[in-house]
Amino acid sequence: MSFAFKCASCAATQPAQIGDLACELCGSVMDVSYDEPADEYAPRLPLARPSERMSLGEGNTPLVALPSIARSLGIRRLWAKLEMMAPTGSFKDRGSAVLMSAALEAGVTEFVEDSSGNAGASLSAYAASAGITAHVFFPDSAARGKVDQIGIFGATLHPTPGPRQAATDAAVTYVVDNSLPYLSHNLSPYFLEGMKSFSYEIVGSDAASVTDIVIPVGNGSLLIGMFKGFEELQASERISSAPALHVVQAEAVKPLVAALSDEEWSFDPDLKTVASGISVSHPPRLRQCLDVVRLSGGSGIAVDDPAMLGWQKRLASEAGIFCEATSAAAFAGLEAMAATGAISEQARVLIPITGSGLKEPLARD
Ligand SMILES: [Zn+2]
Repeated sequence: MSFAFKCASCAATQPAQIGDLACELCGSVMDVSYDEPADEYAPRLPLARPSERMSLGEGNTPLVALPSIARSLGIRRLWAKLEMMAPTGSFKDRGSAVLMSAALEAGVTEFVEDSSGNAGASLSAYAASAGITAHVFFPDSAARGKVDQIGIFGATLHPTPGPRQAATDAAVTYVVDNSLPYLSHNLSPYFLEGMKSFSYEIVGSDAASVTDIVIPVGNGSLLIGMFKGFEELQASERISSAPALHVVQAEAVKPLVAALSDEEWSFDPDLKTVASGISVSHPPRLRQCLDVVRLSGGSGIAVDDPAMLGWQKRLASEAGIFCEATSAAAFAGLEAMAATGAISEQARVLIPITGSGLKEPLARD
C-alpha cells in the first residue's frame, strides 16, 4: 500500500511519518492519502503490512435493534451498535489498533498521548501488547475507572489539574522536554483510518439500509473516520449513497454545534458536563467535522445533562444497555431531532454506543 499525509487545509502532501501531526507548510491537521483505489470489502490502511497488523479483537461489534424506542420517538427503525463491547470498552480501539501497528512498524518504543480517559486506556492496552511505553496525560478529574484502566496496562500516569485542554498542553511540553514522539489520537492521521471499519461493518449488516447516524462528538475521530469509510465504499461502488451524519454535543461544550448554526460561542470553564468524552472545547479537526456534517446532509444539536442522564437510565432500564453518559447524549439528541423534523419519521437511524457505563461512577440526582 502506497500512501502519504495530505494537509486537510492546503492539500499539500508530505511523506507519512509516525510523529508528524501537522502540515509542514501551513500547520494544519493532516489525513492519509492513498495511491491505490478504494477496496470494496476492506478499508485501506496506512501500513506497510496491513495483514500483519496488531489486534486485540477490536471491531465487528454487536448490532441491537431497538424497536420500541424507535416507535416512541416516531421513527421507522433504530439500531444501537455496541462499541462498548470493544476490548477496552470504547470505539477508540479501532483507531488504537492502526496507530500502534504503525508505531511498531516505525520502531517507536515510547510515546506521549493525552486523553479524557477512553483513548488513554485504549492506547495503553495496545501499547502494552506491542511492548511500547505509553505516557498518558489526562485531567485529574477523569473517572477513576478509566484511570485505573490506564494504569493497569502499565502506562505512566500523568494526571493534570484543570480542564481537558490543560492535559494536552502538559503533554506537548513533556514531548518537547523529553524528545519523545507525540502520538495524539486527536491529531494522528493513523488513528482516523482505524475508524473506517465502522462503516464497512454497517454496510455488511442488518442496518445496511440506515439513513441517519447520530454520533456524540468531542474531537470527531469517529465522525470523520466514518465519513472516510463511506467515501471509500462509494468510490469502490459498493454503495451508491451514504447516510446523513448528525452530531450531538453538550450544552456546556458545543463548539461544533455552534459553528454549524453560525452561533457565537466561547468556552466557559465554569460550565461542566457529565459527558466527559465530548467535553472538548477546542477540537483541532473542527473544520473537518463541519465539512463532514454538511457534506453528508447531517445536522447538529446540543443537549443538557438531565436529558443525557435520563437517556442513560432509560437505555439501561428499557433496553439492557449500560452506556456512559456521553453515549446517552446521542439518544437525547435523536429525540430532539425527531421532534424538530431534522430526522424524519421515515428515518432508519443508527447510534454507536461509544463507551461503557462500567467505567465511570453514576451521576446522582
Ligand atoms: Zn497545509
